[in-house]
Amino acid sequence: MSDYEFVDHTYDVVVVGAGGSGLRAALGAAQAGLKTACITKVFPTRSHTVAAQGGIAASLGNMSQDDWRWHMYDTVKGSDWLGDQDSIEYLCREAPAAVYELEHWGMPFSRTEEGKIYQRAFGGMTKNFGEGPVQRTCAAADRTGHAMLHTLYGQALKNETEFFIEYFAMDLIMDDEGACRGVTAWKLDDGTLHRFRAQKVVLATGGYGRAFFSCTSAHTCTGDGNAMVLRAGLPLQDMEFVQFHPTGIYGSGCLITEGSRGEGGYLTNSEGERFMERYAPSAKDLASRDVVSRAMTVEIREGRGVGKEADHIFLHLDHLPPETLAERLPGISETARIFAGVDVTKEPIPVLPTVHYNMGGIPTNFHGEVLTKANGDPDHVVPGLMAVGEAACVSVHGANRLGSNSLIDLVVFGRAAGLRCGATLDAGASQPELKDNQTDGHVARFDRIRNASGDQPVAELRLEMQKAMQSNCAVFRTGDVLREGVEKIDAVFKKLPGIDVQDRGMVWNTDLIEALEFDNLIGQAAVTVNSAANREESRGAHAREDYADRDDETWMKHTLAWVDDGGKVNIDYRPVHDYTMSNDIAYIEPKARVY
Ligand SMILES: Cc1cc2nc3c(=O)[nH]c(=O)nc-3n(C[C@H](O)[C@H](O)[C@H](O)COP(=O)(O)OP(=O)(O)OC[C@H]3O[C@@H](n4cnc5c(N)ncnc54)[C@H](O)[C@@H]3O)c2cc1C
Repeated sequence: MSDYEFVDHTYDVVVVGAGGSGLRAALGAAQAGLKTACITKVFPTRSHTVAAQGGIAASLGNMSQDDWRWHMYDTVKGSDWLGDQDSIEYLCREAPAAVYELEHWGMPFSRTEEGKIYQRAFGGMTKNFGEGPVQRTCAAADRTGHAMLHTLYGQALKNETEFFIEYFAMDLIMDDEGACRGVTAWKLDDGTLHRFRAQKVVLATGGYGRAFFSCTSAHTCTGDGNAMVLRAGLPLQDMEFVQFHPTGIYGSGCLITEGSRGEGGYLTNSEGERFMERYAPSAKDLASRDVVSRAMTVEIREGRGVGKEADHIFLHLDHLPPETLAERLPGISETARIFAGVDVTKEPIPVLPTVHYNMGGIPTNFHGEVLTKANGDPDHVVPGLMAVGEAACVSVHGANRLGSNSLIDLVVFGRAAGLRCGATLDAGASQPELKDNQTDGHVARFDRIRNASGDQPVAELRLEMQKAMQSNCAVFRTGDVLREGVEKIDAVFKKLPGIDVQDRGMVWNTDLIEALEFDNLIGQAAVTVNSAANREESRGAHAREDYADRDDETWMKHTLAWVDDGGKVNIDYRPVHDYTMSNDIAYIEPKARVY
């Protein structure tokens, strides 16, 4: 592959991704005195974290009494007992300190009358172990992610993290012993290729919502880090658990935050009925997201949808005082006007469950170290490799994430990863020379895709994949529908060699970027639909009509899924951790999940 030369770099830590999790990990590693690089395909403050609206969960107790143990109980229940309780304990204990850290770094939170951080109600967040709603979600109006990302980017710059902006990371550099030694990247604006050697690579590349047709996530959410892990021969975990947010705007998929129901909004069907009262008598519109999305889908299926085609639901905010809307929900008022033509002070917003978040991802422990199942050890640590944020599966969200628990996951585990780097690495320690055979495969793949000249436009194949995922791996699933999905995705995979990339250039070649991203997405689509077909129970976001109950005896375990070059998926399982981190709280025993 002599046509391509690499520019070489050496760092102690290389973080791929500059969303909330990547920035927090990078600044932590830099604070620990390690030479740290952060590589990102988009400008840091354009990462999807910027779009987060509703808020960040932490038991500050600013509005009424609260306790991290209550937050932990809600998160375990929200996860439908698939989350690892040691990790969930870590998340909920550390959450308040992580929010105060953001506050001290200058994050402009909304305030109460007394000047404390404002907190709103969110789905599944309760007091006293499930006894009714608590206001736990800290917010900066409905632009919390924007405020957070800008705060973290400023701090990362201040701590001398070195940024490589608009570099597209391609693959992990692995050695013969299965350790990660670095990452390769393509610099988009001048076409050069780069090798970053590092003691630790931290993947913080976000979710892969774009494997589906209708999603709330940015076009950049293609799960590139997940795909790099699959190509390195490592598994992804719990990929069948895909969250549908109840309130994407009908047609465009743009998000209307759950915070709007937290501020008093509610859903109605074609009969004007507040139907959530039937499905979740206690929590109603603030039940967990999987519960609300299923209820909406049932209403539409049974003929009570709204609109000409009776195919969506209304979200009402028109009863709320206009001052509240202007102060607490200005962003979604604007979004509703632009994308649905609706004045929220007067009319309801047309909404539909829309793909929103990936509970699954790269398996890690609560230090952010990547795990695989090897030599009989289900928690074998992969040397040199870490993952944080939506790309990772820690697993705190298990089978269903609670709203506002992702932003807190980003900063708590981003911080943990930085601390772990500080505790385990020596700054400037010597690193083994890289060998050509460690990167030949990366170059071969890049070259193959760059020169692809078949007859299949990438956009057409991508659409075929997205439609298949949307119809065959949806809110409700059956064995037959999932098996058909497996075949459809396999058919797309088989067409990969026939793709056509028209532009052969190396500089700002968006054709090539889209082809590389599609190549990343299809492997994740394959493991997602196969993992779903294999799991014969209903748990959290995975609702099987042919196996309607949760089956703890057989299925309280994490799925691990690998994919080979031909698209064949292999599946294995690892146990859910049935222990907590400390003696401050006992393991929360499984029980039926009602809201
Ligand atoms: C519309 C919307 C609203 C949301 N609201 C909330 C909320 O209110 N509260 C909450 O808790 N959660 C919310 N979420 C979820 C939450 O925002 C995300 O899960 C979280 O922001 C993901 O952060 P991240 O750091 O993992 O990745 P992202 O913010 O997605 O960033 C990914 C980073 O990886 C980089 N990257 C990716 N691939 C490559 C590559 N190949 N090479 C180089 N760089 C790469 C990108 O450039 C980017 O910097 C929301 C999500 C959406 C979509």
